[in-house]
Amino acid sequence: MMKEISISSKERYQLIDITGEIENLVVESGVREGIVFVFAPHSTAGILLTENEENLKEDWLELFEKLVSGLNPEGEQAPYGAGFKHNLIDDNADSHLLSGLLGQERVLLIENGNLIRGTWQQIFLAEFDGPRRRKVIVKILKG
Ligand code: ZN
Repeated sequence: MMKEISISSKERYQLIDITGEIENLVVESGVREGIVFVFAPHSTAGILLTENEENLKEDWLELFEKLVSGLNPEGEQAPYGAGFKHNLIDDNADSHLLSGLLGQERVLLIENGNLIRGTWQQIFLAEFDGPRRRKVIVKILKG
């Protein structure tokens, strides 16, 4: 079974909890034991497992910003400065780099009809180039 979740992000960088939607799809599938493949078909977004706590979400967003801000000093232009070269054509190099670093997919297990995850482990779409419409593909396999 393959399904799509549609999401509208509202910020440039944003974490959107999609755990409920994925758990609903697991229940709907009727699969008791198997694998859930969660994939964001985007090169400027990713999938993250973390706790859904407001301060922690802000910490993540700050980490993401710090990871890329030092690489693109203000006023420096690619290709001769230290700025991102991709920004010459698209102005979203940071989004692609964070998406690739975080990863665009996760695999989770289903046991006794439930998604196996820690109490403080929710599934997020990580938006790095919003606001825009996103989709997450969820493939559920028996086995
Ligand atoms: Zn781009």
